[in-house]
Amino acid sequence: MRVKTRKLTLGIDIDNVIAKTDQKIREIIRNTYGIDLSQRDITVYNYHKCGITRQQERDVLNVFHKKECENVELVRGAKKSLSILGESHKVIIVTSRDLSSRKATERWLRTKGIRYDSLIFENRKHKTGIKFHYFIEDRWKHALKLAKAGTKVLLFNYPWNLNRPKHPNIRRVNNWKEILMLLSGI
Ligand SMILES: [Mg+2]
Repeated sequence: MRVKTRKLTLGIDIDNVIAKTDQKIREIIRNTYGIDLSQRDITVYNYHKCGITRQQERDVLNVFHKKECENVELVRGAKKSLSILGESHKVIIVTSRDLSSRKATERWLRTKGIRYDSLIFENRKHKTGIKFHYFIEDRWKHALKLAKAGTKVLLFNYPWNLNRPKHPNIRRVNNWKEILMLLSGI
């Protein structure tokens, strides 16, 4: 009898999980407004609460989604880890990026050689209807909603998600090496 094995599904965020987005956003802010923010300054993932105005944030994100999202560096270990995890998991990338960045985002993922099965643009990450085995995220608001909906979340530690309450479905990680160990025992 043939036994059908079903792959476990992983939900993966892009910004600050696969892509070093905060670094690029702060670079755009520095080059445009001469405001030099360090990653430690970003204690909430809303740049208008961390040293720039709402309008400046809108303009910066516009530049990011239109152009600069193609010039972001990879988070260390992301490419290799997704390549390994993709052998035994279905990898679904779920991003809250503006839909206008879809083509650029797809090009970037292809150029960087990221292995994945599908790409979803959805701000309500807990509303995709997909049963994720684990979801890898860095934003607290997404992590908490996913966790409350019953999804296990691996939350990348960053200054913008520290000092938040604990949740039984949220486990904190520092890098992709830890994620690989947790998910594949490597
Ligand atoms: Mg993110």
